[in-house]
Amino acid sequence: MNEIISGEKILVTGGAGFIGSNLCEVLLDSNNTVVCLDNFATGKQENIAPFLKHPKFSFIQGDIRNLEDCLLATKNVDYVLHQAALGSVPRSIKNPITTNEVNISGFLNMLVASRDHHIKRFVYAASSSTYGDSQALPKVEENIGKPLSPYAVTKLVNELYADVFFKTYGLETIGLRYFNVFGKRQDPNGAYAAVIPKFVKQFMQLESPIINGDGTFSRDFTYIDNVVQANLKSLVASSTSVNNVYNIAFGDRNTLNDLVVYLKEYLAIYKPSIEKVPVIYGSERVGDIPHSHASIQKAKKYLNYQPEFSLQKGLQEAVDWYWKNL
Ligand code: NAD
Repeated sequence: MNEIISGEKILVTGGAGFIGSNLCEVLLDSNNTVVCLDNFATGKQENIAPFLKHPKFSFIQGDIRNLEDCLLATKNVDYVLHQAALGSVPRSIKNPITTNEVNISGFLNMLVASRDHHIKRFVYAASSSTYGDSQALPKVEENIGKPLSPYAVTKLVNELYADVFFKTYGLETIGLRYFNVFGKRQDPNGAYAAVIPKFVKQFMQLESPIINGDGTFSRDFTYIDNVVQANLKSLVASSTSVNNVYNIAFGDRNTLNDLVVYLKEYLAIYKPSIEKVPVIYGSERVGDIPHSHASIQKAKKYLNYQPEFSLQKGLQEAVDWYWKNL
């Protein structure tokens, strides 16, 4: 099996965002033609600035809520890596209608456009939030609970639509349930920033980050290179892998308190005084699950997914990037 796709035309939706821009970079490096569709809702011009001069990169500023934009973006494309969505559980609790419009209607538009333009395979960003209120650990793909937020509902509906489009129209789909992804270009700013970039920035400014709860909640933190690998392998995996969803994580769990210890250790290499910055413990957040830990056996078996970055290894890379770029 050839594991690195090359010479194909690939649409990355949400390509100006954190995960999408990392995908664009690697796809261009492996000699693919890349189309990026994004409306800059949360993505940034600076994330795609390095690619704009690349002869095999094109950018369409458009909105997945608009079918015409989706049809334009999928024209003459071989594969789709669909990342565009409004992330964040708290954002969806504050504004469920917008999250629904982008994450469900936008997703459906992308499926319709991919069907109409005979896309060879539609790989999309699913989410660990789909496990909802299931307490079982580790999380196994076939055993989900009920969603705990509007965001989780949208990601579950995506999986249902992808399944129906495979069965009804023969569109090959693969859903990748990402678990707490982190790494270069993830936005540390704003009310809905993810915990790792937010804490890194606060520590760098010698500010105390606030942990929601007592810090014993745990997550399967997943470095971006593992996620990129999973996407690339999904594009070339055999047809027995399609019409399915896969956990994409490292397959371990660390508490928020563990995370803080590692962050301080790695950041103190650059600025020793960070070691002394205390954290503040606040109240738990609505919709948060206590523990998340993925079984990655299915992705290993069907996608040949082999994550290379543990939390510690990925954090060292991420901290180094933030130190040079923030
Ligand atoms: P991000 O916010 O950095 O990227 C999302 C991108 O989608 C942005 O560039 C944004 O501008 C774009 N977008 C939003 N609405 C759009 C619209 N209507 N039309 C066109 N583009 C639009 O977030 P990310 O962390 O890179 O997430 C990428 C995908 O992965 C999302 O689907 C998200 O739900 C999913 N996911 C992320 C994580 C994580 O930990 N980061 C975990 C699980 C799932």
